[in-house]
Amino acid sequence: MDLYEYQGKQYFARFGIPTSPGGVADTVDEAVEQAEAAGYPVVVKAQVKVGGRGKAGGVKLAANADEVRLHAGNILGLDIKGHVVKRLWVEHASDIAKEYYASFTLDRPAKLHLGMLSAEGGVEIEEVAQTNPDAIARIHIDPVAGLGEEAAREWVDRANLDAEARGQAATLLVRLYHCYVEGDCDLAEINPLILTPEGKVHALDAKVTLDENASFRHPEWEEYADDSDVDPREKMAKEKGLNYIGLSGTVGIIANGAGLAMSTLDVVTQVGGEAANFLDIGGGANADVMAAALEVINADPAVKSILVNIFGGITRVDEVANGIIEAIGRVKLSSPIVMRLDGTNAVEGRALLATHLSDTLMAEPTMLEAARHAVALAQA
Ligand code: GDP
Ligand code: MN
Repeated sequence: MDLYEYQGKQYFARFGIPTSPGGVADTVDEAVEQAEAAGYPVVVKAQVKVGGRGKAGGVKLAANADEVRLHAGNILGLDIKGHVVKRLWVEHASDIAKEYYASFTLDRPAKLHLGMLSAEGGVEIEEVAQTNPDAIARIHIDPVAGLGEEAAREWVDRANLDAEARGQAATLLVRLYHCYVEGDCDLAEINPLILTPEGKVHALDAKVTLDENASFRHPEWEEYADDSDVDPREKMAKEKGLNYIGLSGTVGIIANGAGLAMSTLDVVTQVGGEAANFLDIGGGANADVMAAALEVINADPAVKSILVNIFGGITRVDEVANGIIEAIGRVKLSSPIVMRLDGTNAVEGRALLATHLSDTLMAEPTMLEAARHAVALAQA
């Protein structure tokens, strides 16, 4: 889960990482209020979950209330790479002597945490990596050993930060590492990390991605839940604990196992149809899961037919059949279902379903035939 800059900065603050004082604003008037509170000059910043806001006109300095009004008015509603700005962050502007880059992320192949630090910040790190790779000092951190002040200091020296920034930067990086590890981040990035003419080091930007697998131990993450950009179908599926991805077609898909679900999409496409979704119900295809899956698909007005493709392995087809029968009793469907049931106990499963078949619940012996039938119904 990505955080907005202002949330990232609030997250940083918990771990003692210095940022500039500021506040959020959803209107021009609020922006002026926040500016008065932070003290002029201020910087007015678009809050969107995408980088390169500066270049897109989403970050502007303002010396007084009139300039805040002007910039806040222009930035609110601005479209930055498909993200419309609805909220601003207004903070006291910093004087910048130097811009650095710092981040922690996971190096999966190395099975270690990776810190990246560069004296050439402010620009996109991908650009630095391409044009001047030696300008990025890397450090691999054993998660058991952690990052101590001494190692941080050696890293800062290696990155060639300005002499007066080194001590503060090392301290800040140790804190950023704590934020990254204890805060369960996938990414904790500061670009730019600045040195001011007065010799202070602090974070001017914050890019934080939280590892949602750790949300069970972070009840406080609740406040970051942000549905504004989420597909309502995916939101509903998530609430029901389903592995669902919304697509733009008309054939709803239910399959067990991600591989089979993907193959089902392929077969639907192959016979001239378009899938409305990817949905893997996993191993436990009981009535609850099946009913939840049917509810989510049924709620999508674009769906014209539903293809249920189950291959029983450990999951037994007769159990799946019972699940489908019970689920159909619970959910009032607006589209017909075509099933393909095969694998363990397929004969028993099909026998169970035989008496329930109708023009809204149909069965086909193979995946290809089931796909053809579902696509024909969707296009009828
Ligand atoms: P991004 O473009 O989305 O990464 O947004 P940033 O928060 O990194 O801001 C972009 C650029 O705006 C920074 O690299 C700075 O050069 C500039 N900037 C941001 N805040 C300030 C500030 O307080 N003072 C000054 N002088 N420049 C700032
Ligand atoms: Mn930035």
